[in-house]
Amino acid sequence: MQHVYLDHASTTPLIEPVIQEMNTVMREHFGNASSIHHHGRQAKMLVENARKTIAKALGASIGEIFFCSSATEAHNMILTNSIKDLGVQRIISSPIEHHCIIHTLDHLASITDVEIVYLDVDKLGSVDLDQLEGLLTQDKKKTLVSLMYVNNEIGNIIDISRVSEICTTNSALFHCDTVQGIGKLPLNVNDAPMAFLAGSAHKFNGPKGVGFFYMNGDNIISPMMYGGAQERNMRAGTENIIGITGMAVALEKAIEQKEERADHIKKLNRHMRTRLDELDEIIINGTNQIDNILSVSFPATERVDMLMLNLDISRISASSGSACSSGIEHDSHVLQHIGHSKERKTIRFSFSHFNTIEEIDYVIEKLKKFTPIKEAYNN
Ligand code: PLP
Repeated sequence: MQHVYLDHASTTPLIEPVIQEMNTVMREHFGNASSIHHHGRQAKMLVENARKTIAKALGASIGEIFFCSSATEAHNMILTNSIKDLGVQRIISSPIEHHCIIHTLDHLASITDVEIVYLDVDKLGSVDLDQLEGLLTQDKKKTLVSLMYVNNEIGNIIDISRVSEICTTNSALFHCDTVQGIGKLPLNVNDAPMAFLAGSAHKFNGPKGVGFFYMNGDNIISPMMYGGAQERNMRAGTENIIGITGMAVALEKAIEQKEERADHIKKLNRHMRTRLDELDEIIINGTNQIDNILSVSFPATERVDMLMLNLDISRISASSGSACSSGIEHDSHVLQHIGHSKERKTIRFSFSHFNTIEEIDYVIEKLKKFTPIKEAYNN
């Protein structure tokens, strides 16, 4: 067996149509989109076509889509400048958001008077939306609600229609980190209205270092960087034409093949869950999860302690549910918040339409070497 890549929530490989598009752009369209001559106009046209594709995919207007370097950049700007420009006094979020939200909120709490409130999260990782409703009903101060569509570690899907409805009813702004849901789950800003969302190309088989954000026309904030007038003054800096065109093709393909990919991934997920049943004392983390993310906690044993290393030696790339700082490994903030026992080892397996049932079987056979097996399967 060649290497098995089960870390698609971390990043994804480029697909062939994306490589072809980027190749063509690299070879033939080197113009600066701000130039008014032929080469510039060609580059500009590519950027605007990409914007059209992304806007269409989200049910947004073309003028509401802006390109940037990453979702991290977009979220930093949205959170920071909504306080400055929209008079946001309170931000309600959850403690299991991505670090690009949590660390930005930590920073904002230290430099502004904004009130940061984290909603309760239960042992399955469900965010308490009744509490959100209660908070917004009780106190009418200007609030931005920042909640992610799909949790990148445990795969929990939040009901964005409900969050949107609660926010609309209570005149709060809804900011959604849609990075893990884009191209995989339904996402249309007419069905679930929101003020802001952001996406990142490398999560849906596009290139790294390019992303976009949606900003609803009613909630205009100022840019984070100052310079040229690119992106209608919202994001200075010469456009990454190669990345932007590659991202648009990647999203187009993801939407085109959504059902087909989802069916295949669902089969992989069900197969892996069935086979995981052969292992003893495992826990699958989360609830109402997206099919491409499976977070599994293994019991504390000596061999399990070296699980990540052993999987890597077995040519399996997955992600550990822990972070290492200063040489000390500790559970991620998400696992900590769902009451994960520190002794257990958690691995996040994340699939794509490229994976096969044979690969899943290979992973299970390797796991069986390193983790306790149920009596019935112990031959
Ligand atoms: N939000 C979520 C849920 C993510 O999974 C990631 C990437 O891991 C990000 C935000 C950040 O995206 P980017 O890599 O574009 O900065």
